[in-house]
Amino acid sequence: MSAIRIGNLHKSYGATPVLRGVDLEVAAGEVVCVIGPSGSGKSTLLACLNGLEPFESGEVVVDGQHIGWGPERGGARQRVPERAMTLARRRIGIVFQAFNLFPHMTALGNVMEAPVQVLRRPRAAVEAEARALLARVGLAHKADAYPADLSGGQQQRVAIARALAMQPAVMLFDEVTSALDPELVGEVLAVMRKLAEEGMTMLVVTHEMGFARDVADRVVFMDAGLVVEQGPPAAVLGNPREPRTRSFLGRVL
Ligand code: ADP
Ligand code: MG
Repeated sequence: MSAIRIGNLHKSYGATPVLRGVDLEVAAGEVVCVIGPSGSGKSTLLACLNGLEPFESGEVVVDGQHIGWGPERGGARQRVPERAMTLARRRIGIVFQAFNLFPHMTALGNVMEAPVQVLRRPRAAVEAEARALLARVGLAHKADAYPADLSGGQQQRVAIARALAMQPAVMLFDEVTSALDPELVGEVLAVMRKLAEEGMTMLVVTHEMGFARDVADRVVFMDAGLVVEQGPPAAVLGNPREPRTRSFLGRVL
């Protein structure tokens, strides 16, 4: 079964089409990197997957749950009940480019927040898991630090631990290293690489071609709201078929 299945997804902002019939499947345990020029619709694709944005048509299924836009939310094109959407979204972890930790909570507090507040799980068990997650991202010693006292790389690693705390079926990453000072990029990519090796299903929007080449099972090139080309990293990055892929890679590599 696919962990993610996107079929003929169309989405516009106002009159501007942004996704123009995207098809994409991600198998359980697969790591797929999405590359493409700015404005090609990569972030919008992740937002549709996570139920953050409504879409006009198409099918989006994550971990067996249909993602849509329930009637309560005004855009009843995809009639998925609000309750089902809430459950589906819990199965999806997402980390964004901007550090968006809760500033008034420690690293540990950030990681514990959703399991305690959303899942209503007992604090003691959640705390033990949260400490283990912080250790997993190399930050056991920063449990009591506030975001303002952490580097950007450390904040992104806390954000990854926080997403993992909900035990997601899939993890989405949207250019999580783009806002980091260059010397901090490696530590975040190392955490993502380890997660990939442990078998997490990951859809990673990235400009880090080295990461895509070494870690991805598949690379997807998007342009102008469409998947233009996809395949093994060596093929797409090393010997692209499509002129648009070649031209993009010529600019970034
Ligand atoms: P990418 O992540 O590949 O850079 P985006 O998905 O962010 O691309 O954006 C795709 C297109 O949609 C761009 O033309 C962008 O200007 C437009 N867009 C993105 N978000 C919004 C929004 N909230 N309202 C209107 N237009 C948007
Ligand atoms: Mg983007």
